[in-house]
Amino acid sequence: MKVYLDNAATTSIAKEVITEIEPYLSTYFGNPSSTHSFGRKTKNAIEISRKKIADYINAENSEIIFTSGGTEADNMAMRCAVLDLNVKRIITSKIEHHAVGHTAENLKDSHNIEVVYLTTDKYGNPSIDELEELLKIEVKTLVSLMHANNEIGTLLPIEEVSLLCNSYENVYFHSDTVQTMCHYLLDVKKLKIDFLVCSAHKFHGPKGIGFLYVNKNLHLNPIITGGAQERNHRGGTENLYGIIGLAKAMELAFSDLKNHQKHVRELKYYMKDELYKMDSRIIFHGETDPNKSLYTVLSVGFPKDICNSMLLFSLDIFGIAASGGSACSAGSNKGSHVLAELPDQDKFQTVRFSLCRYNTKKEVDYTLDKIRTIVFFIVSPQ
Ligand code: PLP
Repeated sequence: MKVYLDNAATTSIAKEVITEIEPYLSTYFGNPSSTHSFGRKTKNAIEISRKKIADYINAENSEIIFTSGGTEADNMAMRCAVLDLNVKRIITSKIEHHAVGHTAENLKDSHNIEVVYLTTDKYGNPSIDELEELLKIEVKTLVSLMHANNEIGTLLPIEEVSLLCNSYENVYFHSDTVQTMCHYLLDVKKLKIDFLVCSAHKFHGPKGIGFLYVNKNLHLNPIITGGAQERNHRGGTENLYGIIGLAKAMELAFSDLKNHQKHVRELKYYMKDELYKMDSRIIFHGETDPNKSLYTVLSVGFPKDICNSMLLFSLDIFGIAASGGSACSAGSNKGSHVLAELPDQDKFQTVRFSLCRYNTKKEVDYTLDKIRTIVFFIVSPQ
């Protein structure tokens, strides 16, 4: 049996998305910037997709800038905040994705930007009190805090933070919503947020496509200069198939969001309860309470005296894909910068299981069964 429980790294592409993209790979190939009928056809498809996407987050069409994914969108938000909005300080946390963390550090070095890291508690929640105190200091600031952490699932009270940032004139708020876009309803008008970020491959869309939402009151210059695509914000022929696929993946996600949420949440908490029954010393990172945790991510800390770093490898042998942290840190020999911020990490071996709407209870039971065998040497009768 093959079980894929690494959906925070990437997801399988939905078959309906493939069907939607197919005509744009074969029949409709015109350059969207061409003025003839071939070009008008694809341009029109892009603009229909943009409208569909904008509607789902209650944005205006002009507020959506297509990018190559989450990393580029995070970069665009942060770099434009410095270059075009004259931001002098970035307030963030140590547990952001590298797309944000490394960009903040780069802006510190290249543009002398002050970077302030909020303290995070043992669940990975950044201190909102500290943020409030810092915002009282009058300096043009970008607050950059992710909606949900990709490794441990900690969920930011995004409305509260957005409201707080909004009460200060010189403060912009950027949230990396890569792990929550299409998993929760996000209404940009209600949130009054400046920037948010999407990456299609996290919700059964294609890889290499995403967007940055930019509040229409902000005037940004292009980061990628060239043609006038994306209303002059990002030159280059559009990723037509990606955009079509992104819009379809979004439609599928939102068409039955409540049931998807319920299904995945039930699987996660079933898995959590069963693991806890195996050994009550097992911990679950980022789990303040179910409402403050991303329902797709279960980050499990196995006590090191019962479990070593071979667990992931052993699961892989049984056909189960999970992750030791984020895909990026797993690919390098450095440990996770997120787990490093949590207490007592030397005592635990962490495995991140991340679920999607296509996972089944049978797959979770198979995984639990193999964990019993690998960690506790219990072999269930066949
Ligand atoms: N931000 C978060 C929270 C992520 O989980 C990821 C992907 O792992 C990214 C940004 C980067 O997105 P992309 O792979 O589309 O560049």
